[in-house]
Amino acid sequence: MADENQNQNLRQYKLDAYNKLEKSFVSYADLTAVTALDIAADTEPFVTLAAYGHGLIGKYIAKRDIENVQKQNIIARESVYKKLQKADAALKNKNENWQLVVVYGYRSPGVQQRLFNTELERTQNDNPALDYNEIIETVHRRVAVPSVSGHPTGGAVDVTVYDFVKGSYLDFGTDVRDFSTKDSYYNSPFISREQKENRSYLRKVMTAEDFAPYDGEWWHFSYGDKEWAFYSRRQARRNKLETTDLKYLYAHKLPAELVYTDKYRDSAAVEQAGLVRLAIQKSGRLTEETVNILKKSGIDVDYGEGKFFGKCGNFPLEILFVRDDDIPGLVDAGAADAGIVGQNIYEESDCKSVILKELGFGRCALAVAVPEFSGIQSIFDLSGKKVATSYNRSAGKFFERENILNVGIVPLSGAVEMAPTIGYADAIIDLVSTGSSLRQNKLKFLHKIFDSESVLIANKAALDNKEKHSTIDRLISRITGYLSAKSYKRVMFSVRKERLEAIKPALASAKLANLCDSLADSEYSIVRAVVKKSSIWDIIEELKKNGAEDIVFYDIESIM
Ligand code: AMP
Repeated sequence: MADENQNQNLRQYKLDAYNKLEKSFVSYADLTAVTALDIAADTEPFVTLAAYGHGLIGKYIAKRDIENVQKQNIIARESVYKKLQKADAALKNKNENWQLVVVYGYRSPGVQQRLFNTELERTQNDNPALDYNEIIETVHRRVAVPSVSGHPTGGAVDVTVYDFVKGSYLDFGTDVRDFSTKDSYYNSPFISREQKENRSYLRKVMTAEDFAPYDGEWWHFSYGDKEWAFYSRRQARRNKLETTDLKYLYAHKLPAELVYTDKYRDSAAVEQAGLVRLAIQKSGRLTEETVNILKKSGIDVDYGEGKFFGKCGNFPLEILFVRDDDIPGLVDAGAADAGIVGQNIYEESDCKSVILKELGFGRCALAVAVPEFSGIQSIFDLSGKKVATSYNRSAGKFFERENILNVGIVPLSGAVEMAPTIGYADAIIDLVSTGSSLRQNKLKFLHKIFDSESVLIANKAALDNKEKHSTIDRLISRITGYLSAKSYKRVMFSVRKERLEAIKPALASAKLANLCDSLADSEYSIVRAVVKKSSIWDIIEELKKNGAEDIVFYDIESIM
């Protein structure tokens, strides 16, 4: 019993010590404050670190995600490579048998996103009580948030040191990239003096080359990324130096943008082929939600007023910002591969491209409206009358379909609701969502022609192209994940094992409700379920009545 208490105390003591260290790490919130990116100036090539050459081994353990993009080698910024060579030379000044080993360099933004998503899911499951910001910070300590992470910039490296006479790596207290213990924290008090000295020496040679260290991983260093900018500025402040020279703040690069050594040129070309140009509304009703949907789908959209093009740092997508009524034409002509546009504009334009996905926002209807006190009672009374609209084609098709002859369509490109008041037309055909604009203009709704919402469209050529099609599929799958997550919540609770059957009916309508963990040595089970937002309160009341305890529920980022 005394032993058990002692162990418990020791565990708590270690936990407190690690928690204290975590507080001093550079956090995600810190990095979001670094905004002065000099993307335009970023033309630096990426190079392949020679395997077993010139003192740099780029071939430690070929981890799965390295293999995909980097084959057997490690890729990094040219400037990083040069600095690594100097750091390696400095190591050899102390011991000529030592060799700097680069274990990891560039990681594609897509891989970073996938690793992040997995860690996020795990952390959310393990810490249901944490709020979203705490979850993100916890995840960030292990897998950086993609928009601020260093590896996709080619500026971050994970390194260790090899003694080629002894034939072994120096003892740093943990293996490089070992995430199973918090002794990976640079200042862990639970490592030996020799291990501390080794870490300290490695940090010394790397920071002498202007790399920024990361306190959460003794092996991680970066140059020119956001972490580096934050660190350099803080160091400068501490030393009371003036430094505004942050021009090496790197953008994340897609594999397509990397300048590889010859060996990698082919794979770069393949990535380029998968790049999809997506046209979206430049400024208007749909812009904010369109950008939001892309962002929530994990795509970093570089959006700024007055821009025509936007790059997406972590997805093979290039955004074209245009007027929304130009989108169907641009996509049909192949000037863009795909577009996001209101169905009303799509119908009006005689677009040949196909609708791939309805996006659930920008909902409205194309409708016929007449003055409040008009004698027009039904659409058939419109025969021989004048109808003002910006939707000439849709209006013409509608009257033809309904066989209402002799309608004078009066084209107007704006302020259509005004037309009856000023005696320009007897009725209008326009978009209606809440109806408030009709009321304001003393008009009443007469007939709905069709419902509309924003849709994702793509042209045939893009869909026939294997690489582009695959990018579009990925885009749709992410958007679908986000859209379905928006209407669901995750519920988690504990329940006595003998009450498990009793709570089942309450979860009958739930999606993914069969996830049941039994807590070892406990009378409780943990139940997790995904339920519709619209019925969450009914379900929770029902669960409580039937024995559920400690119920927590929260929003879901995405369901893939
Ligand atoms: P706007 O930015 O005003 O040109 O509107 C862009 C798109 O928003 C339209 O083409 C419709 O697809 C959609 N929309 C949704 N609700 C409305 C509404 N009440 N009036 C006009 N457009 C709407």
